[in-house]
Amino acid sequence: MEFVVTAAEARARYQGTVGLVPTMGFLHEGHVSLIERARNSAETVMVSLFVNPLQFNDPNDLARYPRDLERDAEVCRRAGADLLLVPKVDDMLPAHTRVRVEGVTAPMEGSRRPGHFEGVATIVAVLLASLRPDLALFGRKDAQQLAVVTTVCADLGFPVRVVACPTVREPDGLALSSRNVFLSGPERRAAGELSAGLFAAAEAVEAGGERSSGRLAEIVRGHLEGIDVEYVALAAQTDAALLSVLDRPAFLAVAASFGSTRLIDNVAFDAVGDGGFQTDRGVRLEHPSVLVGQPAGSG
Ligand code: AMP
Repeated sequence: MEFVVTAAEARARYQGTVGLVPTMGFLHEGHVSLIERARNSAETVMVSLFVNPLQFNDPNDLARYPRDLERDAEVCRRAGADLLLVPKVDDMLPAHTRVRVEGVTAPMEGSRRPGHFEGVATIVAVLLASLRPDLALFGRKDAQQLAVVTTVCADLGFPVRVVACPTVREPDGLALSSRNVFLSGPERRAAGELSAGLFAAAEAVEAGGERSSGRLAEIVRGHLEGIDVEYVALAAQTDAALLSVLDRPAFLAVAASFGSTRLIDNVAFDAVGDGGFQTDRGVRLEHPSVLVGQPAGSG
């Protein structure tokens, strides 16, 4: 695997089709699953690692975002990446241009984190324009982000195939996140209820035929008593429009804080013929994540 700093250096090393996995580093098995998926689908696999200052609406969150480049390089190498791009901030932030996406960015994360999706969309556009990958792989864990990225690619005509990959979870269901390292023992145990609530709602859809978003949200909230829940919402996969009834491909999303750590999760409902839905709950690791340990230098 080669380490590169500029898009031009990366492009000079391409062979055949190129799959890009954009990340903010502190990699875990969720990122690994994206890299492995890219490995199966493209001849050159590139991981970009950039802690994007534009997408942090909270400066404290940016300051404490975990970083460990040496370990990330080893994770990329083992997962089969060919190139690891770690660009300079000055090369990534456009001097005059920001990409503002309407509609799909309005609810949920967009309303709670002002400027977040503008930051995401701007950097994704810079990556796609400068790296010109054939495929770009994103996790369903960030379902609204996926809808934003798909919208940007369609609207701006980026000739890239966006590939959505399932959420990778701890054995108890907690979605892997670089932020999980901040959870104390009790917070970590409580955080397991996020996915438990989502899975219970998924069960109500699959087994009970439940279609009401209000009812589904109640089921999730029933698991989160005493927890600081920001929202539980059912939204369309394509444009993140809030739905009162599950009548199209959608995702049931939740955001909640555990101490000072804010987590998001969702389950996706994919259409399967004659009005039915199949839930994508993601995949669970057999053993607890070995990568979401303590950040270097902590403790
Ligand atoms: P991040 O480094 O958090 O910006 O994430 C980089 C990419 O990895 C995004 O496309 C995320 O959706 C994806 N990702 C993050 N966590 C997971 C997970 N648990 N399972 C699958 N993909 C994930």
